[in-house]
Amino acid sequence: MAGDDEDTRPHAPRRVVLVTGASSGIGAATAERFAADGWIVHATARRADRLDALAADTGCVVHAVDVRDAAAMTALVDAIGPIDVLVNNAGLGRMDGTLAGSSLDDIVASVDTNVTAVLVVTAAVLRGMTERGSGHVVNIGSMAGLYPLAAASYGATKGAIHRLSTNLRLELRGTGVRVTEICPGRVQSEFYDVAITDPTRRAVTKDSGVDEVTAAEVADAIAYAVGVPAHVNINRIELQPTGQTYGGSQFDAASGEASP
Ligand code: NDP
Repeated sequence: MAGDDEDTRPHAPRRVVLVTGASSGIGAATAERFAADGWIVHATARRADRLDALAADTGCVVHAVDVRDAAAMTALVDAIGPIDVLVNNAGLGRMDGTLAGSSLDDIVASVDTNVTAVLVVTAAVLRGMTERGSGHVVNIGSMAGLYPLAAASYGATKGAIHRLSTNLRLELRGTGVRVTEICPGRVQSEFYDVAITDPTRRAVTKDSGVDEVTAAEVADAIAYAVGVPAHVNINRIELQPTGQTYGGSQFDAASGEASP
């Protein structure tokens, strides 16, 4: 009889995750993964149509908001209530040229999105986490934040995320709140559609010629870091295609021109 099989044990409350930048790529895959694992997922981005599709597919609670809108993001965090995991994923690169050739808009957009918004949202979420004595902040950094890459402003923003992650671990010691930095190399996503406007350069840059890491594989890494027992903090995960390496020097005779 169906009644005999009924599970009458008290169920643990569903945990809550806030994923920023969930309308595509790593954020969408992360929201899908947490939803599939039974979490209550709050997913943010600007593109409402993409978010609506995510909600329909996964049951995520979606919020169309610009992550740079500090007042709106802080109000959202307060409205959600206790958040167990924050995934700071929303981000972008502006890679149309060198730093010297960048527009002011591109520089400001990169810093505001990749750094300032992360600080604002993390601060808002941490207030509750530290009060409760538990929680987990997952920052999506980049290999570009750890190793030299000819993308100065993007690397600067992700370098900031690296130092934020390590320093937060120190600030939060004794609170029970965990911090993880995820540093991907090349991942299949819409990143370069945003980063490079020239279609020819974009096509050449996107064609890495190797099997790239998928967004779902990054989501797996996030799920691993979150899923280990609470007394274990996964500090940092670096993952990149086997066919991609980091660092290395490039040698060019001086021509007086920087390479974009
Ligand atoms: P996508 O371009 O596919 O996704 C970026 C996400 O960020 C989108 O959902 C976008 O949503 C959101 N976003 C951007 N700006 C804003 C904003 N102002 N307000 C709200 N949401 C915003 O790229 P990825 O999935 O690759 O990027 C995710 C993260 O991974 C980024 O932080 C990126 O720097 C990092 N990363 C990516 C790598 C790669 O090779 N792809 C490698 C290493 C790190 P919307 O436009 O709808 O607002």
